Amino acid sequence: NAPVLAVVGRPNVGKSTLVNRIIGRREAVVEDKPGVTRDRVSYDAVWNGRAFTVVDTGGWDPDARGLAKSIAAQAEIAVQVADAVLFVVDAGVGITDSDEAVVRILRKSGKPVVLAANKVDDQRTEAEAYGLWHLGLGEPIPVSALHGRGSGDLLDACLAAL
Ligand code: GDP
Ligand code: MG
Repeated sequence: NAPVLAVVGRPNVGKSTLVNRIIGRREAVVEDKPGVTRDRVSYDAVWNGRAFTVVDTGGWDPDARGLAKSIAAQAEIAVQVADAVLFVVDAGVGITDSDEAVVRILRKSGKPVVLAANKVDDQRTEAEAYGLWHLGLGEPIPVSALHGRGSGDLLDACLAAL
């Protein structure tokens, strides 16, 4: 069985856009408004000749419990099913309380975590990523899921973690 990479993070940080970038197709549903749900969350991917499965956890947000609670619940499920977790943060927004809750879950799990600082669309905003070092999840990898900037380095880091 292919190893599983679960993509977690708050709504609207760009998880589905990043999943599309990783799988090289446009299958994950990208929405401007947070909280979009759908049935299919698992996708087959290949990078450098290695096959793996990508899980877009945004689809696990169907109910009306508090937003922070459902994000934490997603992270709990993700660490159970995943061999490694890709934690996506919006570098421009920075860390919110929901992010902190996810960080605690990821740390406790002991699973390998790759930290993506998304929406770094150009060099000008790259410095924003380095504020995420303090999370203690290792090197934040600046990426633009939208434009593809940095996605090769991010995929290298994900495969190294799997
Ligand atoms: P999700 O809720 O985390 O799955 O986020 P989506 O992938 O649905 O993206 C939410 C919004 O952020 C959409 O409008 C995307 O086009 C936008 N977005 C995603 N990645 C980037 C990025 O790297 N740069 C910019 N500028 N926008 C992005
Ligand atoms: Mg999504």
